[in-house]
Formats: sequence, structure tokens, C-alpha cells
Amino acid sequence: MEPLDQGAKGAGPDVVELLRDHGIQPSAQRVAVAKYVLRTDEHPSADQVWHSVRSGFPMLSRATVYNTLNLFVEKGLLREFILAEGRLVYDPKTEPHHHFIDEATGKIHDVAWNAVQVSDVEKLPGFAVRDYQVVMRGRKLPSA
Ligand SMILES: [Zn+2]
Repeated sequence: MEPLDQGAKGAGPDVVELLRDHGIQPSAQRVAVAKYVLRTDEHPSADQVWHSVRSGFPMLSRATVYNTLNLFVEKGLLREFILAEGRLVYDPKTEPHHHFIDEATGKIHDVAWNAVQVSDVEKLPGFAVRDYQVVMRGRKLPSA
């Protein structure tokens, strides 16, 4: 019997396979963008993705990066969210979680879904809530 698993699963998904699984043709540019953006916990903007990926891929255009990020969001590989300052960032962690923004450094930290209780969202009159998250701002304390 042929083994179905070729070792790509488990220790971290193979990017090419992951793109194919989501119906995305794995072109070299898309794989380069995916390798960075699906593994970072930096919550980068599109320009940050472009700058990071371009260092190893100088021919990569900004438009390609924007289109690729939009495609990944559309296919459910990435989430995008807008910070109050109008900054659109990308997040490879697609399961529900909250965010904490360190106002001193601008760094965005993930906060576990269960760490914050938000009540009665579903009972909010007059709104059909599709999605929500809490964005907290403040100062990250030095770890004790
Ligand atoms: Zn996040």
C-alpha cells in the first residue's frame, strides 16, 4: 500500500501543498510570499510583506504582493484586519483570537480567545454579528 503521507504534514505544512489544498496555483512568487506571511507572527502590512519577500526575490512587484495577499485572504489562508489608525495588517492565525497593541513599540501581540470574556455579542439588538475580536492597547509589562 502506498503511504499517503509524504512527511510534509505534522511538523509544519509544506507551503506548495498548502496552496494547492486551497485551490491556489503555487507560482514561485506566491510560494515566496506564503513562506513569509504564513509563518510570521508579526502581523505585517502589505508593504512590510513586500519589503521582506523582495530581499530574496528582487523581481517581485508590489502589485503582485497585494494581489497575492488578497487571494490568500479570499481562500481563507490569511485574515486581514484594520487597526484604528487605518493600518491594514495580515494574520496567518485564522482561528479566533484577540490582539494587544503595544503603544510604545507598535508590536501586535496575539491574545488567546479564552483570555478575554466578551458577553452578549449574539444578543446585540439590530445587528447580525458575523465576526468580532477585541483590540486592546497599552503597554506590555516586563515579564516577571
Ligand atoms: Zn493575530
